[in-house]
Amino acid sequence: MNVTQHDAQSPSRGDQLMQPEPGQQNGRRPWPVIVTRHLVKTYVLGETNVHALRGVSLKIYPSEFVAIMGPSGSGKSSFMNLIGCLDHPTSGDYFLAGMPVSRLRPDDLADIRNRRIGFVFQSFNLLVRDTALTNVMLPMMYAGFSGKEQERRARRALQLVGLGDRTSHLPTQLSGGEQQRVAIARALVNSPSLLLADEPTGNLDSRTSLEIMAVLQSLNERGITIIIVTHNPEVAVYARRQVEMRDGRIVSDEPVTAMRSAQADWSAAVKSTSTTGDMRIQEETQ
Ligand code: ADP
Ligand code: MG
Repeated sequence: MNVTQHDAQSPSRGDQLMQPEPGQQNGRRPWPVIVTRHLVKTYVLGETNVHALRGVSLKIYPSEFVAIMGPSGSGKSSFMNLIGCLDHPTSGDYFLAGMPVSRLRPDDLADIRNRRIGFVFQSFNLLVRDTALTNVMLPMMYAGFSGKEQERRARRALQLVGLGDRTSHLPTQLSGGEQQRVAIARALVNSPSLLLADEPTGNLDSRTSLEIMAVLQSLNERGITIIIVTHNPEVAVYARRQVEMRDGRIVSDEPVTAMRSAQADWSAAVKSTSTTGDMRIQEETQ
């Protein structure tokens, strides 16, 4: 199966594989990119069952920007791992762009995971002896791209996160926010339509968190669906929708009524502390 960027927008595959929700097929709303139905995840540790997810049902539409919130241990990472096809649910259904993930063959699942989804984690996991460019090229090294194509994609991804002029820097020559931006660029090299970020601002101070949210907002404006995990309400105001989890369940799901510009707030924060850090997200060049 060859999953293309085009598929992400097209319901044709989903038409065959997913029963439409009642009343939805005639509406104007696009098809959801993610549908979970009563997802349950129980980890078995020896004699103990850990009930991480107790039935999570959620729909996420293309181009949404969702913040998943909740206290530590509430199941946020378990849910993200399922959405990212990194783990299997104990029970329940998951449809990704209309495809029932549980029924996909391992090869197809790997294909979807690699082409459609980008991951960003809390720790940057950058190789300290390699430049920003090489760090971003790493995931492509075994994907059969020519060296030239790897470099082209990596440069473009770095431009998308505003680091087009930092390609030769080593991680130690970059700020914490810039290092996290390199990790985001690394997640963008396959042009995913869905970006998952588990606590991407978790280790960052509040000003640097704004910098990361500004990058994510600009990617979202380009149409990428974004789901981030954060325990921090100050970070979540820059999303468009806030989903809150408690004890393995969704306890609230609300749109953000007055979404703020992280870029504006970040610029103001940078000015007030009179340090450098103008971030212009550069337009890509062909
Ligand atoms: P959060 O990301 O909200 O902190 P997690 O999804 O990481 O929550 O964890 C939810 C619950 O599942 C916690 O009680 C945690 O200890 C448990 N848990 C998470 N991963 C595993 C695992 N691999 N094995 C056993 N228990 C786990
Ligand atoms: Mg977590």
